[in-house]
Amino acid sequence: MASTRTQSIEQTLTIIKPDAVAQNMIGNIIEYFEREGLSLVAAKMTHLKESDAERFYAIHKERAFFRELVEFMTSGPVLILVFQGDNAVVRVREIMGATDPAKAAPGTIRADFATSIDRNAIHGSDSLKTAKSEIEFFFTPQEIFSRTQG
Ligand code: UDP
Ligand code: MG
Repeated sequence: MASTRTQSIEQTLTIIKPDAVAQNMIGNIIEYFEREGLSLVAAKMTHLKESDAERFYAIHKERAFFRELVEFMTSGPVLILVFQGDNAVVRVREIMGATDPAKAAPGTIRADFATSIDRNAIHGSDSLKTAKSEIEFFFTPQEIFSRTQG
């Protein structure tokens, strides 16, 4: 029987983290999303300031790893991307794989490029609500080139 699920075209934020940028893996990582039919609709390279990383990851500020996370995320340039497509938030998380690369499914970005739980190559929004606020954190509406394809 054909699926009756209606399409939900979503946008979600990803960050190619300093470790993956330093390894020259930007193009490889974008390919994982494009081959799954997701469309890149916004992109920005930046070197996050400490205050940016602290605000972006504020939800984790009480966690033991917070200072190291901020230090890592500010250690080099990152590429901030918005992908669009059907069910994009969940699909991007699936394509990324689990936070800990040792637990990430084979063929996921983190299984293929992350070296440890704290140097794990990529960020992806964890819900539609988070995606909206994370996209607004980095992009103005004029910087997002929404497309119907994907
Ligand atoms: N992190 C870490 N140590 C941990 C857990 C998380 O360094 O024990 C870092 C890691 O870079 C992770 C980020 O904090 O990607 C945010 O953690 P979260 O649980 O939100 O994982 P994600 O949503 O990135 O899979
Ligand atoms: Mg998270």
